Amino acid sequence: MAELETDYLIVGAGAMGMAFADTLLSESDARMIIVDRHAKPGGHWNMAYPFVRLHQPASFYGVASRELSQGKKDEVGLNKGLMDLSTGAEVSSYFDDVMRQRFLPSGRVDYYPMCDWSGDGAFTSSLSGERFKVRYKKLVDATLLTASIPSEHKPPYEIGKGVHFMPPNGLPALRQKPEGYVIIGGGKTAVDSILFLLESGAKADDIQWIIPRDPWMLLRENAQPLPEYFERVFGTQADYMKSMAEAETVEDLFDRLEACGYVVRLDRDVRPQMFHAATISELELATIRQVKNIIRMGHVTALEENRILLTGGEIETTPGNLHIDCSAGIARLAKDWVTPKVFEGNIIRPLTVRSYMPVFSGSLIAYLDVHYDDEDEKNRLSQPVAIPNTLEDFVAMSLGAMMNQYNWSQDKTLRRWIRENRLDGFTKLTSEIDHDDKSKMAIMGRIRDTAPKAVGNLMKLAGLA
Ligand SMILES: Cc1cc2nc3c(=O)[nH]c(=O)nc-3n(C[C@H](O)[C@H](O)[C@H](O)COP(=O)(O)OP(=O)(O)OC[C@H]3O[C@@H](n4cnc5c(N)ncnc54)[C@H](O)[C@@H]3O)c2cc1C
Repeated sequence: MAELETDYLIVGAGAMGMAFADTLLSESDARMIIVDRHAKPGGHWNMAYPFVRLHQPASFYGVASRELSQGKKDEVGLNKGLMDLSTGAEVSSYFDDVMRQRFLPSGRVDYYPMCDWSGDGAFTSSLSGERFKVRYKKLVDATLLTASIPSEHKPPYEIGKGVHFMPPNGLPALRQKPEGYVIIGGGKTAVDSILFLLESGAKADDIQWIIPRDPWMLLRENAQPLPEYFERVFGTQADYMKSMAEAETVEDLFDRLEACGYVVRLDRDVRPQMFHAATISELELATIRQVKNIIRMGHVTALEENRILLTGGEIETTPGNLHIDCSAGIARLAKDWVTPKVFEGNIIRPLTVRSYMPVFSGSLIAYLDVHYDDEDEKNRLSQPVAIPNTLEDFVAMSLGAMMNQYNWSQDKTLRRWIRENRLDGFTKLTSEIDHDDKSKMAIMGRIRDTAPKAVGNLMKLAGLA
């Protein structure tokens, strides 16, 4: 067995591992080994469906040291007027460039693709079978947010003989119109698949959509890090804060969030039961609303040639219908989330410490490890924020994110570093406000004044006070 030695052993070259390693390179002179099962860096982006894109602007995705966005707004399509969203292929190619053009030439990174870490201090090459034993100072486990993706996911229902079935990955290869399309799942993969079908010429009437639980979704218009969007972005943020300060129940909270345009739903007559932070533009929402044949009878338990069994009943189907599995989701959801510490002895776990911002979180955790000695202090500044599934999780997520934000704001050096970090996206905009601009100052004042009340009320809603 070959023996290796390093300062940091990073397991996982997905977005989290890459964001962590990049900041470690910038902020320290440490050496690192990066190990991943995939042949290329970028994690789940390597296996994503061909029409996948980022759900949020590229300008705050990737690693801190290198721009991903083309710095343009889309002029056509359903993201028109909003900041560019990289395609999956662009994201994969970006991470490959980061590895080949920054990490490896630094001479401080050794990369072992197609290798499986077994957790016992060793990893094995999937191609040669060679085993490597590693002596490290710190182990960075960047596998904990591993995404479950359609092409690798085993559907949680039986699929009978003769059923026409595929993950969304197969859609661009269709050459013959099926009798109809049956989309299974109510999350962002389902939304992406429907948008792909409709934008590519399918008729909305040919689509049947099985939604086990309707989602509350976020509007991408509220996440535009551009000066011309300031009032929209921070005005909605102030309304979000007010909603959290005044809501009497979780249901009431979502009603308020919908009224102020922070969240949207597919059908105003159906109450959503889940929140996975799916992000959508107003034009995309209007487009998916064209699909009228929606089945809300619970989860699919079996697909048969002529019928679909669901937890709430059954419906007919035909062998000519194409069934598209969009039921994969984020692997670890808040329900079974036993919150581990980010820093524990010589183990570091890059987890989400700001809602909807995994890569910023990975970068910040690397910064904390380099610049802070005390483990308790590092953990105080990086409380893991729940990955939401239920509506109650949204409360826990918002509370955790606000506590972290408050703690960061009390540390002047950290605050400055965050402001300058490309992955932060928004703080720079607020720090550059002209103090004579009464309208912008009023919005920031509303956020600042409501925040303490929001925290107190969220604690009540979460049953903590
Ligand atoms: C469709 C989609 C769109 C998204 N859009 C956005 C967006 O716009 N903005 C945003 O901020 N986030 C977005 N996300 C979320 C984000 O990109 C990542 O999914 C999330 O941060 C998880 O990244 P990760 O690196 O932890 O996981 P992964 O990408 O799953 O990477 C984990 C890596 O660990 C490796 N690994 C696991 N176990 C082992 C082992 N034992 N040995 C060796 N290697 C191992 C895997 O091979 C994998 O490469 C999106 C996610 C999806 C699915």
